[in-house]
Amino acid sequence: MEFFAPVAEHDHEQIIAFQNRVTGLRGFLAIHDTTRGPAFGGVRIKSYPSDDAALRDALNLSRAMTYKASLAELPCGGGKTVILLREGMKRREAFEAFGTMVESLNGRYFCARDVGITDDDLGAIARGTKYVAKEPSAELGDVSENTAIGVAHGLRACLEFAGLKGRLRVAIQGMGSVGYLLAGILHKQGMKLIVADVNAARAHAAAKEFAAEVVPPEEILFVDCEVLAPCALGGALSPETAPKIRCKIVCGCANNMLTSLEIGDTLMKREIVYAPDYLVNAGGLLRGAEFFLMKRKDSSESLARIYGRTLHVLETAAERGISPARVADEIAESRLVRPHLFSRLHWRGTTD
Ligand code: NAD
Repeated sequence: MEFFAPVAEHDHEQIIAFQNRVTGLRGFLAIHDTTRGPAFGGVRIKSYPSDDAALRDALNLSRAMTYKASLAELPCGGGKTVILLREGMKRREAFEAFGTMVESLNGRYFCARDVGITDDDLGAIARGTKYVAKEPSAELGDVSENTAIGVAHGLRACLEFAGLKGRLRVAIQGMGSVGYLLAGILHKQGMKLIVADVNAARAHAAAKEFAAEVVPPEEILFVDCEVLAPCALGGALSPETAPKIRCKIVCGCANNMLTSLEIGDTLMKREIVYAPDYLVNAGGLLRGAEFFLMKRKDSSESLARIYGRTLHVLETAAERGISPARVADEIAESRLVRPHLFSRLHWRGTTD
């Protein structure tokens, strides 16, 4: 594998490839940019087709975290960990070992839950480090719930921008931590939900609780609806799928839901309003950063600001005739333009 080419492509500061034979732990921690402050980013566990694919996932996701923090005007940067799901891994011990490694970074990186991580995993990480958003926690609250609330604020802006109201059809791909909570919020708002999950039990739980219609996972992206909310893994909108979706708005929590920036252009040409993923799914990061770095007890007001930011991005995009994805990137990048001298980046702990 050509190692430094992908790392240098988006100017990542540091990549840690970690492995521990005794526990079977193996993965990558990517720290993209600490210009604004320590790196924040979730831990994901997944089986990857290759080490290269895992590294690329960590690189892409950590970069998105930097952009997310920048757009949300938070004093932190972007990081991400991917742990390879491997047979024979001693899960509890592996996560404890990972926590020990995070602790050794002395507050340069704060982690939280991402795809595949359970409460037990978070508990195991927390035995090794204090730099983890351990849930459940009364003080911190539920990170995924903050994400879902943020997405709902972003969607409010999209609906206003598109001039849509009333009982609308919202198709949600993925009834996981965030998707399920988002479904609950939208159900209360009177939306008609259409849902899918590769884990059928989750989709059926939503059908029961929110009177949602369940469709097979391979159909959800293409159902006729006003809003499509990708809330599963990244890459839902690709050159194959984007031309075929049948909605007026795309607004969901999935990170990196567009396979490339050009997909944003495709959506714009099709007059589909796209809420940039890292803009509307910043609620969890926002809560984590405000809790750890600013010691705030509540982040509801900051979450509500996602509405105004989304509207601003959509209106700017319309005025300039470019996609919201490009506008969001430009704003995020404009706040990162500072000399990247290694010595000026964030290397010391911030808590205690
Ligand atoms: P999760 O693992 O709890 O949920 C993902 C769900 O998607 C699972 O139920 C899974 O079975 C389902 N799924 C996977 N592939 C699918 C497919 N092809 N079709 C339908 N369903 C499918 O994860 P989560 O924490 O809810 O995160 C969801 C997405 O949101 C991820 O992309 C994550 O990176 C992003 N995100 C999460 C947070 C957070 O606070 N948890 C914050 C920001 C972004």
